[in-house]
Formats: sequence, C-alpha cells, structure tokens
Amino acid sequence: MTDKNTPDLLHRYIFEQRHVRGEIVQMSHSYNAMLENHQYPDIVKQILGELLAITSLLTATIKFEGDINIQLQGDGPLSYAVVNGNNKQQMRATAKFKDDIKPGTIPELIGSGYMVITIAPDQGERYQGVAALDKDSLALCIEDYFKNSEQLRTRVWLATDTSEHNGKSAGMLLQILPVEAKANDDFTHLEALTNTIKNEELLNLPAKEVLTRLYHEDNPVLFEPQEITYECGCSREKTSGAILKLSFDDAMALIEERGDIEITCQFCLTDYHFDAVDVEALFKDSAEQSDSIN
Ligand SMILES: [Zn+2]
Repeated sequence: MTDKNTPDLLHRYIFEQRHVRGEIVQMSHSYNAMLENHQYPDIVKQILGELLAITSLLTATIKFEGDINIQLQGDGPLSYAVVNGNNKQQMRATAKFKDDIKPGTIPELIGSGYMVITIAPDQGERYQGVAALDKDSLALCIEDYFKNSEQLRTRVWLATDTSEHNGKSAGMLLQILPVEAKANDDFTHLEALTNTIKNEELLNLPAKEVLTRLYHEDNPVLFEPQEITYECGCSREKTSGAILKLSFDDAMALIEERGDIEITCQFCLTDYHFDAVDVEALFKDSAEQSDSIN
C-alpha cells in the first residue's frame, strides 16, 4: 500500500474450515483522485473514504452487473454524500456540506436523514434499500442495514487516512454463511480475531499480510482481487441532456444573458460549455432523433 504503484484492490476470501466469508479493500489512488480539486474538510474526506470502502465491499456481497449508488442525505452540516460505482469497481464521489462543518458522529453530521442504497443491474430490476443513520459511525449503520435487510451476521471495519494527496481508505467485512449450526461459532471466532486489527495496519499493510496476521490458523483462501479505479464517466453528451430539459427558448435566453451555458460535473468538476451554435445543434439533433423514433 505504501508503494505508489500498488493498485487499489478488493480481495474476497473464505476459510477452509469456517462458514464465514470475508473481504478486504484498500484504496489510495482512486480515493485521492476523487478528492482532487474538491475543497473538502478532513471530516468530509473521511466520510467519503468510508462510503467508498462500503460501496466496494457491498458490490462484492451482491452478485450483479451494473451500477451501485450509496447516498447519505439529511438536514445536518453534511447534507449529501454519494459514491457511485459499478461491479467493475469504477467509482466516483461527491458531497455537499456547510462551510462551518465540524467533526462529529454520523447523526451530528447528517442530522435527520438516511442512507439510500440503489442497485441498478444492467439487466433486471432496480433495487433500493434505505438504512437509518442513527448510529455513531457509518460502519455501525451499514452493519445495522445488513442485519435488517439480509438477516445475516455481518461486521464491517473501516479506516481512513485523510493526508493531503496521500489519503487512504480501507475496509474489511465478515459475513456468516449460515449453512451449518457451527457457522455462528465460526463467525464469533473470526470476529474476535478481526477486532484486533488496528487502523494503521488495515491502511498500510498489504492485504495478504493483514489476513495472515489475523487468521494464520484459519487458512484464509483468497480469490483473484479486483482493482478499484476512479472513473467519472461523465461526458459532454450526457451533460447536454440537462439542457434538453429546458425549452429551446429558455436555453437561448440563458445564452443571451450569460454568453453560454456552463454545466459543471458535480463529481469531477469538469466544466462543459454550450454556446448558441451548440444549443441549436442539440435541439435539432434531438428533434431529428425523436422524429426517427416516432
Ligand atoms: Zn465528471
């Protein structure tokens, strides 16, 4: 992890003799890339880092191909925080907060609010789950969500380091595979072992070393890891959709007033500019497209 060239990885593992599965995710590049250019206070960086780790861990607990979106929203100083990702572990994030935000518990930061988890498979039905944000930490909130939604014993450990340009975010997850009565004892055993992990170790030691240190007698078996990357996925074309929601006259009036229409991607902060010629072409194309569809 300390090596700048080490990719950000999500490892899944099981145990030879124990009915529990686990995951460990460690990120640096993708986390720093999504914070870049945003002026986030440390507490917002921390929450986004935790949310990023949760999103990655969750994609691996649910078998699907498509998009995942985990969003915190409320009336507190951190009114909005979101991570968008997909099963390829391409992630992006953004947040809205008050300038005078101070470190605090999740209820202190979010106020009255909730977490919305949306999974949109490429094929099949969209799933949306809502979790309360009434526990002190995000890890506790997400454990509560698992308890209520899947009724499976699940523990989550999260750690972040918000150092400028050298931030790190990491997480671990244990989930019971309740096929045998023994699974409960297995879970309790592994949970106690995992509880000994220090944030420092989770953030800085290679995943395999973390697992060897924690579970050396329990023979964890690792699957091929998945790389996590920062990927915004926005484009001029997708952004232009927002303009088409206006009427042509309103769009032209905006251009007359301001010179052009500027739309900033809330995730990567790329500015997209559309002038009168662009807007005319946009509306012409969209009219032609709807003609050809009809
Ligand atoms: Zn973007």
